[in-house]
Amino acid sequence: MRGLLIALARDETGRLVSPATAIRGADYTCPECDGPVIPRGGGDRGPRRHFAHLSGVAVCALETDAHRSAKYLLAAVVLAWLARAGPRPSVLRAPCTTCGDPGPTQHLPDGIDEVRVEKRLPSGRQPDVTLYSAGHARVGVEVLVTHAVDAEKVAAFGALAWCELVGEDVLANPLCWKPVRDMLRPWTCRRCARAKADAGRREHLAVERASAEAVRAPEPASRAARATKVVIGHSDPEDLRPGVRQQETS
Ligand SMILES: [Zn+2]
Ligand SMILES: [Zn+2]
Repeated sequence: MRGLLIALARDETGRLVSPATAIRGADYTCPECDGPVIPRGGGDRGPRRHFAHLSGVAVCALETDAHRSAKYLLAAVVLAWLARAGPRPSVLRAPCTTCGDPGPTQHLPDGIDEVRVEKRLPSGRQPDVTLYSAGHARVGVEVLVTHAVDAEKVAAFGALAWCELVGEDVLANPLCWKPVRDMLRPWTCRRCARAKADAGRREHLAVERASAEAVRAPEPASRAARATKVVIGHSDPEDLRPGVRQQETS
């Protein structure tokens, strides 16, 4: 099967380039087979912008393998966004941690400034796609086609936020990511967050009110206990002077 579009190419310096920013006439190579490719498409009708192998090139995995094609497509839309040549990709968040309401669609955050495909991280993990911010890996993306990320791979992510996408979903719409699993910061809906804040505020007020009342009207029992303490606890005759005692017990 041939028919998947090549979403990314390398320029002469080896950097990945989105077809949105490709210059006609410049030299580009396929990131999979290193064969020469040229930018194509992007007209009013016809396919989205992509790269195409020059005729005569043997069948390349980027045109036949949905998994490989999807990861380059993800990187391509991120690169296009970073170059201000395409919309900002978004992520459909997991349901609310409290009520289970469907999560919102959140845009990729500001600060992302680089994207790499199959780049090995210091932890040894090699996500399909990694988003970077100021040189640090921020989000790892795994593209799922036939099997889910196994437990060992999950452990290797360590503290890195990551999500797992389905290859076909990516090929259908690379701009809205629908994780089937993720380890992004848990999301709480606005209603639940407000309810939690209100409950916290009520608790705080109740504590304040209780302590204010305690100051205004000390319980007789505790007053008696304090008086007893003065007498029993202070054996020094100096402390038992009439004046001090009177003050303590009044
Ligand atoms: Zn190729
Ligand atoms: Zn909720």
